[in-house]
Amino acid sequence: MASFNDFKIAVNLRNAVDDLGFAKPTPVQEAAFPVIMSGKDVVGIAQTGTGKTMAYVLPLLQSLPFSKEKDPRILILVPTRELVLQVVEAIEKLGKYSSIKVTGIYGGTNINTQKAALASGTDVIVATPGRLYDLVLSRALRLKTIKKLVIDEVDVLLDLGFRFQLVNIFELLPEKRQNIMFSATMTEDIDALIQDFFVGVQKISIAVSGTPLDNISQGAYAVPNFYTKVNLLSHLLQNAATYQKVLVFVSNKRKADLVFELLQESYGEEAAVIHSNKSQNYRVRSIKQFDEGKNRILVTTDVMARGLDLTEISHVINFDTPTYPENYMHRIGRTGRAEKEGTSLLFYTEKEKAFKEDIESLMEYQIPHLNLPEAIEISNQLTAEERPKVIEPDNPHKTKSDDVPGPSFHEKSEKNKKTNQGGSYKRKLKAKYKKPKSRGDKNFNRRKRR
Ligand code: AMP
Repeated sequence: MASFNDFKIAVNLRNAVDDLGFAKPTPVQEAAFPVIMSGKDVVGIAQTGTGKTMAYVLPLLQSLPFSKEKDPRILILVPTRELVLQVVEAIEKLGKYSSIKVTGIYGGTNINTQKAALASGTDVIVATPGRLYDLVLSRALRLKTIKKLVIDEVDVLLDLGFRFQLVNIFELLPEKRQNIMFSATMTEDIDALIQDFFVGVQKISIAVSGTPLDNISQGAYAVPNFYTKVNLLSHLLQNAATYQKVLVFVSNKRKADLVFELLQESYGEEAAVIHSNKSQNYRVRSIKQFDEGKNRILVTTDVMARGLDLTEISHVINFDTPTYPENYMHRIGRTGRAEKEGTSLLFYTEKEKAFKEDIESLMEYQIPHLNLPEAIEISNQLTAEERPKVIEPDNPHKTKSDDVPGPSFHEKSEKNKKTNQGGSYKRKLKAKYKKPKSRGDKNFNRRKRR
């Protein structure tokens, strides 16, 4: 069992740790300490609550030599003002017996107060990217002395659209520096950032165990494409007695919106969607209504869902198969809480099969296969992503994909030869009312009023 005695830390830091009353390091602290001390670039997958802040603050303070330098040597970027304050507090607590100076920088407050704080010099800056960049532009802050960069909750930063600001800040930093990144979920955006800016990254992943909770039953459906997944989802949700409170995970915001719109055709007010492009008010309202049971179905993305404290989720539906197995563990952990039984269903296409296998090897558990219900229409409609790209012979620069038949996951059985013409609800209405009718048709409503 690890102890803080195994960490080679200075007496003043050790005393500060003792004052905090921590008996032993958490797993993320144990794993991160030697790697961060080695000076290598690091990516840690860890959620809030695992002790991740101390996991990077402790080795950073240990390796910060005393200096009369006024400009900062450590920069910690975080997505929110709350997190700035939290991290500043952690540094103040650990640095209480040292002469370390830390400054918190965030938007929405007087910039001149922050300029004044910086003028007297600082060792560590904890900042949100926007305000930090403004301070550098106004020459109140120089970043040329930064030796260590930490980006905490990078998944949230990228999801909030901060990539551009992050890259701008990278440009202002010395090339020779240590990069440390922490994230609860791994996404393709994060991978791209690592590829572009990190060197020889060491990965530490201790956030989730691969052992699924016993009270979560799992199942997987092989589904040929996006629109058939929509049909399957819509079909399952008809059983409201079983599917009482359903969290639907979709890989990105754009797709989440599309799934939500398609669900609304049949489920209207029962469904809600949240992701970071929605306003704060909208998100708060949707979450509240879902939590209270007014909305039965909540469509969401990995990053947005992690901050949610939701109870009694009956089903987690993985509309997409996560490319990183850790994300699957996070997702299914949203159900089966507090001794309640929960169910997780995974929809996977031929393309996603390899990701499913990665998840299964992490869990050391084969997700039981479920047969598609007979009633499911197999759709021939393909999304732009699913269509094979074909180069026109006369125009090699142009790709044409419209009239190319889609790849079929498996031979269709006779019952599944029906084709989906899309908008089945609208089609039914059209047949009934002889003309298209929608709630938003102003002319229709006006004609009716006259
Ligand atoms: P974090 O994951 O950084 O948000 O930390 C979660 C909480 O765990 C904070 O309140 C820390 O003070 C606390 N904590 C950090 N390290 C330890 C430790 N080794 N033992 C007990 N609590 C800890």
